[in-house]
Amino acid sequence: KAKQVGRGRVLAFEACMEREVLERRAIERDLHEAVSEGQLGLQFQPIVDARSEKVVSNEVLVRWQHPVRGEVPPDVFVPVAEHAGLILPIGEWVLRRACQAYADLPEAGAVSVNLSPVQFISPNLVEMVASTLRQTGFPPERLILEITESVFIRDFGSAGKILSALKGLGVKVALDDFGTGYSSLSYLRQYKFDRIKIDKSFVEEIGERSEGLAIISAVIALAHNLGIEVTAEGVEAKFQAEALRTLGCDALQGFYFGKPSDIPVIGKLPGGAPERELDAAFEAEDQA
Ligand code: C2E
Ligand code: MG
Ligand code: MG
Ligand code: MG
Repeated sequence: KAKQVGRGRVLAFEACMEREVLERRAIERDLHEAVSEGQLGLQFQPIVDARSEKVVSNEVLVRWQHPVRGEVPPDVFVPVAEHAGLILPIGEWVLRRACQAYADLPEAGAVSVNLSPVQFISPNLVEMVASTLRQTGFPPERLILEITESVFIRDFGSAGKILSALKGLGVKVALDDFGTGYSSLSYLRQYKFDRIKIDKSFVEEIGERSEGLAIISAVIALAHNLGIEVTAEGVEAKFQAEALRTLGCDALQGFYFGKPSDIPVIGKLPGGAPERELDAAFEAEDQA
């Protein structure tokens, strides 16, 4: 009997896997078209200085408006694009569009662009970034490339070289989703990041578990000792922003300050934005 139940579970699991494989294949097929038919777009989310709450940069987030499925989130299609080799043209397109959007907005501060690990280890990355900067006339010091730590786990030697080459172009590099992967604190000493982004899972814990605050506080202290700036992601409430500011966090990003929008957000956030944005954020969450 137990064996039968077990067998049933295995079959259900296999059916589920098969559905997932088919789903990925369908997305991959449509993704080719998405690129050529202009279904991809960008959104921008403000990042504010923790003290002044002025916008210092925006993070660019890729969007896919699928003709039938509607909006497909990047957490779903970016892994498929990585697998299918499509992340290279998509990533290049995102970077170019971001530089173009920002070239006309000298007062907009910096722009943060996510790099896939697949892009990071591709042999042309540095040349691609250099030529995109050249062709768009975008000042490198206003570009921040966000990478996740997965690229540092496997190959220490070349990851360091790529990082140095990027920094040699004059761009800044941020370590994204800090704390979610293997998070060896020694990465921070070993590689010259300009900033780290504390993952939203830690910010979420503020007020829930005291460990959350303790970890954030330790990470900020360590980063600052190494001359690295700290941004907190996923700030959704005023008390989180205040706690992070008190701990010395440099910059804040999250629905409390602004959700991703179709145009870059510049300057001081529209008067009294926080309360309104917060309501909007919770509404969005309810709908999700
Ligand atoms: P990420 O780089 O860590 O981006 C932050 C994600 O958190 C975004 O989700 C953003 O909309 C969301 N977020 C911002 N503030 C809040 C908040 O207060 N609460 C909550 N719950 N979420 C918040 P999004 O746009 O769905 O992107 C998800 C991930 O997809 C990104 O995580 C990034 O890893 C990847 N991604 C997005 N755009 C690109 C891209 O152009 N290239 C690559 N390679 N990856 C991208
Ligand atoms: Mg990011
Ligand atoms: Mg992140
Ligand atoms: Mg992420």
